[in-house]
Amino acid sequence: MAFVTRFAPSPTGPLHLGHAYSAILAHDMARAEGGQFLLRIEDIDRQRSKSSWEAQLIEDLTWLGLTWDAKPMRQSERLPNYARALDQLWARDLLYPCTCSRRDIELALGAPQEGVLPGPDGPIYPGTCRGQHCKGLPCSMLPRPAEMHLRLDMGRATACCEPAILRADATDWGPWFSETGSGHAGTIFTNRDAFEEKIGDIVLSRRDFGTSYHLAVVIDDAAQGITHVIRGEDLLEATPIHVLLQRLLGLPTPIYHHHRLIRDDLGKRLAKRDDAQALAKYRAEGATPADIRRMVGL
Ligand code: GLU
Repeated sequence: MAFVTRFAPSPTGPLHLGHAYSAILAHDMARAEGGQFLLRIEDIDRQRSKSSWEAQLIEDLTWLGLTWDAKPMRQSERLPNYARALDQLWARDLLYPCTCSRRDIELALGAPQEGVLPGPDGPIYPGTCRGQHCKGLPCSMLPRPAEMHLRLDMGRATACCEPAILRADATDWGPWFSETGSGHAGTIFTNRDAFEEKIGDIVLSRRDFGTSYHLAVVIDDAAQGITHVIRGEDLLEATPIHVLLQRLLGLPTPIYHHHRLIRDDLGKRLAKRDDAQALAKYRAEGATPADIRRMVGL
């Protein structure tokens, strides 16, 4: 079976031990399978992405001894591809424009809802703009607006995949796997109600990006021919969204492997701002790539 995987960092800060673990794991699995390891620069956030971070991450990965099998893909160069997918979804009335700010959403939700877990993109959107900006017509009858966020109408999106894909009784779906098995702390929820209740109408195009993380990842995984997505458990909740988008756009679904997270001494997940664990810092202190592998338990 073909094995094509990728590492997809955002150049918004230094790579740390958690990134090293993810990249080495994907790289080594590809090499062990005689497959390919690809690199993708996820730089749709033009405010936070910096070419200096991109140069630094390439240097760090090279220092670790990793090699990739094609020129890195850069998301900022692929906006027309995302626009084409948005056009398709728009024409099928699966998107609607939204003018809400984060603050509007918080106000509409009132006090934090007890017992309601936030979705992968924050609080579940209360639907304020659904049916508001298309003059009472199906949105597809109007041109797709570039100056507003576009949200996926989750009810319509899941309805269009039933019953073959999203069975109401489904408790799990393949193909995916996790290092820690199905008793995992995250949840892969797959039935229609769960999509509406736990994910809701997510943004598929931010007005300032012309796309969103979810849309860009799905389109690019398909464009790069990715057969195995190897990424952290922190992205577990994004996976059902990605599978749904693949169904909507007629794209293949890779196998998902969500690996454990590297935590700091206090057990907290590492974030980009935790420069304390930046690879460049260990390197400057004289660590070798073999030391890094040991530090992340490889
Ligand atoms: N760009 C994402 C990140 O840096 C990873 C995306 C993915 O692996 O799907 O967290």
